[in-house]
Amino acid sequence: MFEARYYEKEQGKKTRCLLCPHNCLIADNKTGICEVRTNKNGILYTQVYGEVSGYAVDPVEKKPLYHFYPGRTLFSIGTWGCNFKCAYCQNWNISQQQVETTHFKKEEIVAMALREGAVGIAYTYNEPTIWHEFVHDTAVYAKARGLKNVMVTNGFINEAPLADLFPVIDGMNIDLKAFTEKFYTETAKGNLAPVLKSIKTAYEAGVHIELTNLVVPGLNDSEREIMEMTEWIAALSPEIPLHFSRYFPQYLTTMGPTKLETLKKANEIASQKLKYVYIGNVAGEAVADTCCSACGKKLIKRDNYKILENNISGGKCKFCGEKIYGHF
Ligand code: SF4
Repeated sequence: MFEARYYEKEQGKKTRCLLCPHNCLIADNKTGICEVRTNKNGILYTQVYGEVSGYAVDPVEKKPLYHFYPGRTLFSIGTWGCNFKCAYCQNWNISQQQVETTHFKKEEIVAMALREGAVGIAYTYNEPTIWHEFVHDTAVYAKARGLKNVMVTNGFINEAPLADLFPVIDGMNIDLKAFTEKFYTETAKGNLAPVLKSIKTAYEAGVHIELTNLVVPGLNDSEREIMEMTEWIAALSPEIPLHFSRYFPQYLTTMGPTKLETLKKANEIASQKLKYVYIGNVAGEAVADTCCSACGKKLIKRDNYKILENNISGGKCKFCGEKIYGHF
């Protein structure tokens, strides 16, 4: 085990973890809510440093990131555990239980990413916040060797550990799960306010940001909520891409998948204020293409994760010269 960063010692061999807003007070021989940070004799350890539950070469589009080196790949890695407990978790088999892992050194991860010709490394699959120490150290090593670093995260992280990632994390897809505290406290067992703060801070720090909202029937899909969420994002920047994703029953939920009409309505509402809105997890729908917000012409035509056409040149629309948010 590797000694955790971001914690304080408390009386009676207790430790206070300061990595995420749960700020767990952890007694000797106990773990925090995420289950991967353990107090042993008054010292907090991470159980997952270098422990990889799975890796794959994924298209950037799969994260989803549509404005970050389209058509390239990311060497994607994850461990296990999460600081949320979403009832509908689509990755619950690695987020809500311990799984078998293989130990890797950061040098091995970077060597594999370089060998695969990936544009960078994605810390994904489970929640990378709770893997902070390994993510940070690997990202530093990767960046020095010309690789980009991307996190696919719930954004539930305290300010100091988040800020420590900014120099090495180039892009983030942050899950904005809903726009009510009720949803976050009841369904995800977290809070909305720190997530909004992370989005704002990361965007203002110059990290490339895209957001994903998994639309769950009856829980976060009201038109009013979508409108309020859209307004909040637009006030930060109308350029931030928003991906609505289709829910399928998983883990503790049994209701059927999100209706296509609901996703289309969400797309219509958000498109009134945001420049780039997409629908994901839906086969055969033309809602994954990027259009220029100035001239309306199609810039990137996608088929699932494939790029069929790319009309962005030097970060600008080839037709009218409009600057397009992202890295191309
Ligand atoms: S990272 Fe884990 S142990 Fe630390 S505060 Fe969050 S849930 Fe608790």
